[in-house]
Amino acid sequence: MVLNDPQESMTKVSAEAVPAPDSGDIWTATARRAADCGYFFDFDGTLAPIGDDPEEVHPVPGALEALSELTGRVRRVSIVSARPVQFLRQRLGDVPQLALFGLYGLEWQIGAGPIATHPEASAFEPVMREVTQRASAELPGAVLVEYKRLSVALHYRAAPDLREQVETWAGRCAERLQLRVQAGRMVVEIKPPGNRDKGSVVTELIADLTCAWYFGDDLSDLRAFAALDSRRAADPAFLGVRVMVANPESGHHLRSSADVCIDAPELVPDFLANGSPKPPAPTSR
Ligand SMILES: [Mg+2]
Repeated sequence: MVLNDPQESMTKVSAEAVPAPDSGDIWTATARRAADCGYFFDFDGTLAPIGDDPEEVHPVPGALEALSELTGRVRRVSIVSARPVQFLRQRLGDVPQLALFGLYGLEWQIGAGPIATHPEASAFEPVMREVTQRASAELPGAVLVEYKRLSVALHYRAAPDLREQVETWAGRCAERLQLRVQAGRMVVEIKPPGNRDKGSVVTELIADLTCAWYFGDDLSDLRAFAALDSRRAADPAFLGVRVMVANPESGHHLRSSADVCIDAPELVPDFLANGSPKPPAPTSR
C-alpha cells in the first residue's frame, strides 16, 4: 500500500476552499496518525438537526454508533458545544470514552468522570439566575430564555424580528453585570467574563495531537477552525481538517473557511463510517 505524504495531503486540503469530501488523501493521512488524532464535534446543527424547541433536539440516526466506533479508532473524541454537559450526557451518554465540553468549555465531563466546572465560571451561577429572571420578565414572550447554570441563552428563532431588541437587551445586561455576549444563530448568549470559547477549548485539546478534525455549523465554530489554523501555522506537520456541516441555517462564513463540507447532519454518521458521505440528500428543505 502506498501511503501519501501528509505534507502533500495537507497542501491539497489547503489549496481548495472546499475540496471533495471523499478526498482519499485526507483519510490516508489521518489513518497514519490515528494514535495521535482527535475528532471534535459541535452538537446542534452538526450531530443533530436544528430544531425550534432546543429541548426536543436529538442526535441524527447512526450518530451514537458512529461516535462509538470512532472512539475505538482515534485517540480523542470530544463534543464542544454551547449546551450544558448534562444535556449532552442525556443525548450522547451511551457513547463510551467520549469527552463532553459544555457551555463553550465552562464545564466538562471526561468519560464517566464527574462534571467539572471552570474555576473562573463557578462564581457566576447566581448571576445567571438573576439574568434569567430579568430576561424572562423584560423580553417579549416569543424569546425563549434558557438558563444554563453558567450562562443564559436568549433564543429568538420563533421571532427573528426581535434580534435587535434581544441583542440590545443582552448588551446592556452584560455591560451592567460585567459579563460577555456571544451572538450565535438565532441566539444571543450571555456568559461570564474571560476568553473561554470553542477556540480555547480546541487549542487545549489538540496540544498533544498531530491530527485533528473539527465538525461545526455555526459562527462560534469559526473559533475552533481558527484554533486548527493557528496550530497548523505554528506546526506545518500538523494536519487540521475543518469540516462544515451544512443545514438550512448554516451560513457562508463557515463554508468559505472549511476544508470539507458535508451537506446535512444526517450524512455525518456515514461520512465517519465510510470515509466518504453518501450523495447529498434531496433538498426538500
Ligand atoms: Mg451548532
